[in-house]
Amino acid sequence: MKLPFQIDLKDKVAVITGGGGVLCSTFAKAVASCGAKVAVLDLRKEAADKVVAEICAEGGCAVGIAANVLEKASLDAAKERVNRELGTCDILINGAGGNHPKGTTTNEYYLEGDEDREDLISFFNLDPAGIEFVFNLNFLGTLLPTQVFAKDMIGKKDATILNVSSMNAFRPLTKIPAYSGAKASVSNFTQWLAVHFSKAGIRVNALAPGFFATDQNRALLFNEKGEYTERSHKIISQTPMGRFGEKEELIGALLFLLSSEAASFVNGVVLPVDGGFSAYSGV
Ligand code: NAD
Repeated sequence: MKLPFQIDLKDKVAVITGGGGVLCSTFAKAVASCGAKVAVLDLRKEAADKVVAEICAEGGCAVGIAANVLEKASLDAAKERVNRELGTCDILINGAGGNHPKGTTTNEYYLEGDEDREDLISFFNLDPAGIEFVFNLNFLGTLLPTQVFAKDMIGKKDATILNVSSMNAFRPLTKIPAYSGAKASVSNFTQWLAVHFSKAGIRVNALAPGFFATDQNRALLFNEKGEYTERSHKIISQTPMGRFGEKEELIGALLFLLSSEAASFVNGVVLPVDGGFSAYSGV
């Protein structure tokens, strides 16, 4: 994989949750290209295996492991395999996350009579189970793998954790209250954890990607014909650089935060990679 620059991760073991997904498969390939041995964890084993095959074809070292970030036992089993086949974990990337239609309202704004409507998802009939699913996936799904894999990292040289937050964490986006709140909790937890582990030698930071077209947001960004939805046009108009990001454009920030040389004193930051979206007031 072509990288914007190289960092030395030789002999390091990197665990990446959600590693079969669009963004995190790119992260997995990037850290493998820097010499790390990579454990690609995903609920979808076949997606993890595909990424592993691609890494191995390029001469890298990786294993694919089926794991659910919401089940401690599944993560403990994954850790056992990582330790046996690759060694103890140096780098944890908490990438598994996403939204769910049940945590999403149909309309952006309250409309008169919403409280009585059954034919759409208004704020009033949002399903608590949907909200819970999104909160758990993003927040607990970051906390539980950290509980499991950080045990390997205590007192290690250059250990680091990278969480994946979002633009929603700075200011919520319309329609997705659960995802917005859940990603705000990921940013908050990143700061908490950075402080908590500061004496244990583990740096903790997060990336906050702006808008990248991937599977989890495709239905919101493109219509059936593959054209931009109204929401896409709105996003682009609020992104000073005037386009969606390409997933490869996250790699520079990723490698910077993981680098124990370049980012040796960077701890507890949430770094936006967003084409200026979070800086723009709209005027
Ligand atoms: P994606 O859906 O392609 O990848 C998510 C991966 O997580 C999938 O492979 C999925 O199988 C896996 N996963 C889901 N539930 C899991 C579970 N319980 N246990 C283990 N694995 C599970 O999504 P993506 O766009 O690549 O997103 C990656 C991360 O980036 C997510 O945390 C997402 O919220 C965040 N993010 C994405 C964007 C974007 O524009 N795409 C923007 C900001 C933040």
